[in-house]
Amino acid sequence: MAATRRGFIGGAALAAAAAVAPGAAIAQPRASGKASGPFLLTTWDFGPGANEEGWPVLASGGSSLDAVERAINYVELLPDEYWVGYGGVPNEVGETTLDATMFWGPTHDFGGVGCLKRVKRAISVARKVMEETQHSLIVGDDATRFAARMGFAETSLTNLRSQEAWEKWAAKGVRTDAFDPEPFDKDRLRGHDTVGSIAVDAQGNLCVGCSTNGREFKIPGRVGDSPVPGAGAYGDQEVGGAVATGNGDVMMRFLPTYHTVELMRQGMPPHLAAQTALKRITDKGYKFGGGIAAIAVDGTHGGAQEGWDDAGFSYSVRRASGNEKIWVSPKPA
Ligand code: ASP
Repeated sequence: MAATRRGFIGGAALAAAAAVAPGAAIAQPRASGKASGPFLLTTWDFGPGANEEGWPVLASGGSSLDAVERAINYVELLPDEYWVGYGGVPNEVGETTLDATMFWGPTHDFGGVGCLKRVKRAISVARKVMEETQHSLIVGDDATRFAARMGFAETSLTNLRSQEAWEKWAAKGVRTDAFDPEPFDKDRLRGHDTVGSIAVDAQGNLCVGCSTNGREFKIPGRVGDSPVPGAGAYGDQEVGGAVATGNGDVMMRFLPTYHTVELMRQGMPPHLAAQTALKRITDKGYKFGGGIAAIAVDGTHGGAQEGWDDAGFSYSVRRASGNEKIWVSPKPA
C-alpha cells in the first residue's frame, strides 16, 4: 500500500507515542530544552476560552495537533469575534476571506490556506492541506474547492456586523488604506487580531497554528502573514514555537516568528527573542503595531509588542495547574 502523507504523519505520532513507556521519560530527541508538556498557549483575550476548549484533549493524552485545532476552531466560530473567522473584516468589496496555518513538530510539516472564501474553519482546512496533500499552501477560490473536496461545507462568511461595517466604510467612498504610503511615519491601521496557539502534548510533540481574517478593507486577493511559514507562525520540535499578530504586511517581510525561534535555539529566553525579532523591523524604520508570543518546549514563555502600549496584547498558558494570562502590553483601563 502506498504510504500517504497522512499515514506518514500519523505514523510519526504513533511512533513517538509508542516510545513512551508508562511512567518513563519522554524519548524525543532534542538538541536543547526538555519537554515539559502538556501545555497550550493562545494569544489575545480569547486565549483563556480557547485554552479551555483545547485543554481536555491534552489532559486526556491526546495530540497537540487536535488541541490546537480545537482551540482555534473555538475562536473561528465565535459569533462576535470580528478579527478572526467569519462575520468580520470585510475586504474592499465586502467579502470576508481567511488565512490560516498549521505546523506539526515531529515531522516539521506545514499546511496553510490563504484568502480562503466561504468556508468557516480555516485552521481545519490548513490541517487537511498538511495531512492529505504534498502541498504546503493553497489559496483563493481554489482553496475553497479543495476544502469542498475534503468535505467542508460552503457558506457565506458575511454577517450583519461585517455587512454593516463594509456599508459604512463604502459609503464614505474613500480608497482602502492598503494604498497608503508604507508606515515609516505612523501605522494608520486600526485594530488587528490573529488567534495563535502553540501546544506540546504529553508525548512531547509540538504543534503551532494561527488563523485570522486579516486586514480590514484589504485589496481582494490579499494574503497576510498568517499562512506564510516563519511569518505568522513557526515551530521547531527541538526548540518551541512562536506566533505573531499585527500588521502582517510589514511583519512578513522579516519572518519574525522564524527569527524568534532561531534565537531561542541559541539559548535566548522567549521574551528577549520576540523583542529582538521586532527590533529587526523597527531598525529598518517601520512604525507598526505587532506582537509575538513564544514558548519553548520546556515551557518557558514570553512575548513582546511594538506600537501597542495601549492595545492590551496578552497571551494565556494552560497547564494542569490552571490557566495563566500574561499581559504583554498593559491591560486597558
Ligand atoms: N497579522 C494579521 C494580518 O496582517 C492581522 C492581525 O494579526 O491583526 O493578516
